[in-house]
Amino acid sequence: MAKLTCVSTGSEVTNQIGSVTFSCPSCGKIKITRSQYAREIAAQYKCSGCGFTGPN
Ligand SMILES: [Zn+2]
Repeated sequence: MAKLTCVSTGSEVTNQIGSVTFSCPSCGKIKITRSQYAREIAAQYKCSGCGFTGPN
């Protein structure tokens, strides 16, 4: 099973409550994982595939 790490903080969020994984809203090809902490502080994320960045 692959470990999931938050794209904003780099912390491992595997099975962490409040973390989310979703497809990139721009290209839809890359799975983006964010920790609850990153969401709370509205940390910016960036898609590793297309370079899309967003707050949520
Ligand atoms: Zn993308």
